[in-house]
Amino acid sequence: MPELPEVETVRRGLAPWLEGARIEKVTLHRENLRFPFPPGLKEKLEGQIVRHVGRRAKYLLMELSGGATLLSHLGMTGAYRFAEHPIDKPPRYYELEPVPKHDHMVWEISHPVHGRSHLIYADPRRFGFVDYYEDITQSPYLKGLGPEPLGNEFNVESLSGALKGKKSPIKAALLDQRVVAGLGNIYVAEALHRAHIHPTALAGSLLTEEGAPKPALEALVGATRQVLIEAIEVGGSTLRDFRNAEGGSGYFQHRFAVYDREGQPCPTPGCTGTIERIVQSGRSTFFCPVCQVLP
Ligand SMILES: [Zn+2]
Repeated sequence: MPELPEVETVRRGLAPWLEGARIEKVTLHRENLRFPFPPGLKEKLEGQIVRHVGRRAKYLLMELSGGATLLSHLGMTGAYRFAEHPIDKPPRYYELEPVPKHDHMVWEISHPVHGRSHLIYADPRRFGFVDYYEDITQSPYLKGLGPEPLGNEFNVESLSGALKGKKSPIKAALLDQRVVAGLGNIYVAEALHRAHIHPTALAGSLLTEEGAPKPALEALVGATRQVLIEAIEVGGSTLRDFRNAEGGSGYFQHRFAVYDREGQPCPTPGCTGTIERIVQSGRSTFFCPVCQVLP
């Protein structure tokens, strides 16, 4: 499942080609993805200009000239691509092998600089969805989301407030979208490893009895940012069917320190540990039992 870095990579791939483009024609090849397409979506989108392609947590937010916003979630296998690129087309656009039966939504767009092309949303497993809001602040998907981990609101103070007194394992706390938005199984594992925190540590144990953040909590804030920034820099992971908007795939997975590396040596300098896998809340957790400790 795409996590924040993958969605951000898609956003960065879409933005230069889509911002400023007019949506000329919308074709929906089916009535639903995970959920039905919003009623009248075709008519609502046609004629509007995409002003901005943004992101909140794992949601792409396409802000339209009429003031509305199209929210898009990629689910497990959702991907955007441009069917053709008029000018300065990077070679990798040509490497795509479209499977038309999975192309569920197609926009014919015209861009003042790049000319006409098609933006296609494909999603073989159809766990993705789109929704349309005249006022995006009314979207239930965005309500209650915690701070963006790369934004200023995510810091030692805010994380201390969110973890204080929590009896759940730190891994579960970080997966809770109200604590911090956009993190999933992969980057939580990576952040905990980098901060040297054992995934079973109770979230509240990262604070002293007086409620002050321990060094581990401070390390966790920095580690979370760092693993995300590094993943975005290399274009997200290549897990499952993730593809960025340019049809290429990232290669951060080659640099995972613990995720999916059970039985391999811990990459922490000087550490002699071997990566282990346990199951927490029904999902795999990868960690090093030597350098990841209880705070
Ligand atoms: Zn280790």
